[in-house]
Amino acid sequence: MKLRQPETAAPADSAARMQVAPVICYPVDTLPIPDLDGYRAARDGWTKVSEVLVPPRDAASFTVPAGHFFRIVSVEGPQVGDLDLWNANDTGERFFSGKTRALHGTHLSTGDRLWSNLPYLRPIATITQDTLDWYGFDAWGGAVHDVIGTRCDPYTNMLLNGSEYHHCCHSNLTRAFADAVDSGLGAAELQVHDVLNVFMCTGFTRDTGQYFMKTTPVRPGDFLEFFAEIDLLGALSACPGGDCGSKHSSDVAVCHPLLVEIYRPRTAPVGWQPPARNGYSGSHGR
Ligand SMILES: [Zn+2]
Repeated sequence: MKLRQPETAAPADSAARMQVAPVICYPVDTLPIPDLDGYRAARDGWTKVSEVLVPPRDAASFTVPAGHFFRIVSVEGPQVGDLDLWNANDTGERFFSGKTRALHGTHLSTGDRLWSNLPYLRPIATITQDTLDWYGFDAWGGAVHDVIGTRCDPYTNMLLNGSEYHHCCHSNLTRAFADAVDSGLGAAELQVHDVLNVFMCTGFTRDTGQYFMKTTPVRPGDFLEFFAEIDLLGALSACPGGDCGSKHSSDVAVCHPLLVEIYRPRTAPVGWQPPARNGYSGSHGR
C-alpha cells in the first residue's frame, strides 16, 4: 500500500506528470469477436447431459466436451464459487486468470473469453450469458465475477490468523482435482491455479487500493453460462465465505450448494472450430 505520508517531496512538475492520460495496456480490437448469436442459436434444442451439485464448503469436478455448454447455477441461497479449468487432455494447460484480467478487465461478463496459460494462450471457454450483467459497477467500484482475487487458502489463513482451516477453496479444489485425476494431494495442489470468482462481488478500495468483497447480489436461479472451446476438466468450490458478505476461511458464514449443468447442442455453432494453440514460435530469440 502507498504511504499515508510520502517520504519523498513531490517534484515541481508532479501535477503535469500525474495528469497524463492513461492508455489501455492491451487493446482487444485485434482479437476475433466471438459470434454470440451463433453460440446462442446452438442452444436451441440442446440436451442437458449431466449435472453436478457442489456441496457447501467443498468442491466437485466435472468435464465438458469441446462444443458443449455449461452453466454454474445459484441454488438454495446466495453463494459464491471459485472456478478452475484445465484442458481435459493435458492439465498442463489451464485457465490464466492474470492474462484474462489484462485482456478483459477485472470482472468478466458475456462475450469475454477465459484464456489459458503460456505457451498455449488461447480461449478455452467463452461466457455466453450472465444473468447478473445488470449489476455493472456499483458506487464502490464493486462488480461480480472477478479475476482479481486468487482463492481463499489455508496458508494465507495461517499467516493472518495462526489457525488451521481445511475447507478453503484452495484445499477444496485440491481434493476435487486429486479425485478427478486419481493423484496424490501434493501433485494435485500444484495444478490448482488462480480462479474465476463466480458470483463474488469485489473491487479495490479507492483510497488504499485494497481488495474488498461485499455480499453477492446473486439469487437462486441466476447463472453464468460458458461455451467450452476445448475439452475441459473443471473444478468448482462453494466458498466457505458463503455470500462473502463478512468472513471466509472459517465455518462462520452460511453456505449453500452450487449446481453445474452441462448441455450438448444438437449441432455445433455455425462456423465454430476449436481454437489452435498460440502461434508464437517459442524460440524466445535464440
Ligand atoms: Zn473461497
